[in-house]
Amino acid sequence: MSIERKQLADHYGRVATDLRVSVTDRCNLRCTYCMPEQGLDWLAKDSILTDEEIVRLIAIGVRDLGVTDVRFTGGEPLIRPSIVKLVEQVAQLPQAPRVAMTTNGIGLELVAPSLAEAGLNRINVSLDTLRADRFSALTKRDRLADVLAGLEAAKQAGLNPVKINSVLMRGINEDEAPDLLRFAIANDYQLRFIEQMPLDPMHQWSRENMVPADEILDSLRQHFALTPADDERGAAPAELWNVDGSNHSVGVIASVTQPFCGACDRTRITADGMVRNCLFARREGDLKTLMRAGATDDQIAEAWLNEMSAKAPSHGIDQPNFLQPQRPMSAIGG
Ligand code: SAM
Ligand code: SF4
Repeated sequence: MSIERKQLADHYGRVATDLRVSVTDRCNLRCTYCMPEQGLDWLAKDSILTDEEIVRLIAIGVRDLGVTDVRFTGGEPLIRPSIVKLVEQVAQLPQAPRVAMTTNGIGLELVAPSLAEAGLNRINVSLDTLRADRFSALTKRDRLADVLAGLEAAKQAGLNPVKINSVLMRGINEDEAPDLLRFAIANDYQLRFIEQMPLDPMHQWSRENMVPADEILDSLRQHFALTPADDERGAAPAELWNVDGSNHSVGVIASVTQPFCGACDRTRITADGMVRNCLFARREGDLKTLMRAGATDDQIAEAWLNEMSAKAPSHGIDQPNFLQPQRPMSAIGG
C-alpha cells in the first residue's frame, strides 16, 4: 500500500515536480568552473546508488510525490555504463515522467540512438566554445570533435530540440556568444547561456569574472535583433528571445543576477542518495541510509517531503553571509 499521493511542497508555496538525479560524480572533462584538473575525491563506489536504488527513488517520486520530469545528470551521466538501461526503466514506469539528460556530449555519438529508443525525451549538451584550442584550455581535454559529433548524433536520433548549455567566462570565451548562436541556428540547436555560479570546489568564482546576462544580451544584440519570446515563462529558468524575427530562439539563465528561486520547481538526488532541496542548500536528507536500512517506500517519501519543506526562499548569493554549499556542482548534479 502506497501513501496517499502528496506534493513536494515548501513553506513558500513552491511545489517541486522536476527531479534532477546525479548518476555519478565522476567526469571525463575538467571544466575550469566545475572541477580541478586533478579531479576530486570521488565518492566511494559502495556509496553510489545502484540502478535498482535509483529507479526505486524515482518511482517513489513519480508515484507518490508528484514528480513529472526526471533529468539525469552528474558528473558525466554517459560514463555510467548502465545509463541507457536506467533511462529505459524510468521511461517505462507507470505514470512515466518526461525523461531528460544533461551531458557533455562525449560518447553521445555512439549512444544517442539507444537513448532515444530507450525513451529519452530531451537532451542538453554543454558546449562553451567552438574553438578547439579554447576547448582544450577550458576542459583540459582535446575533445571538441566528440562533442560536435554527439550533438549531431542526438539530432539525427530525433532528440529534438537538442539544447546547448554555454557558460561564458571573462577573458576566456566571453566574446563567443554571437558565434555560438550562429552555430546553434545553422544546426537547429537551441542555445542557452547560463551565468556562472559559485559552485566550483576551487572557490575561484567572483562576481567580477562572471559574465552577467545583460552583458551576454548586449553582445548578442550587436549582431542579432532579439525580441522577447516567452509569454508564459512559468518555472522555466531561461528567459527566451527570438532571433531576427525567426523561429530560432536563444535563452539566458540569469541564476545569479536575476534569480528565479520564487518559481523553482526542482528537487535533487545526489549520486550517493542524498535529497537536496536546492543547488545551494547547506543541508541534505540521507535517503540512501534510510533505504539501505530497510525503510519502506512510505518512510522514504516522508523523509523526502521533510527535506523539501525546509527549502530556503532563495539561494542568497547576494547576501553578505552567503556560503557556497560544501559539495561542488559535479557532486550535487547540475
Ligand atoms: N557533465 C554534464 C555536463 O557538463 O553537461 C552534466 C553535469 S554539469 C555539472 C551540468 C551543467 O552545469 C553544465 O551545463 C555545466 O556547464 C554547468 N555548470 C557546471 N558548473 C557550473 C557553474 N559553476 N556555474 C554555472 N554552470 C555550471
Ligand atoms: Fe564534467 Fe560537466 Fe563539470 Fe564539465 S561541467 S567538468 S563536463 S561535470
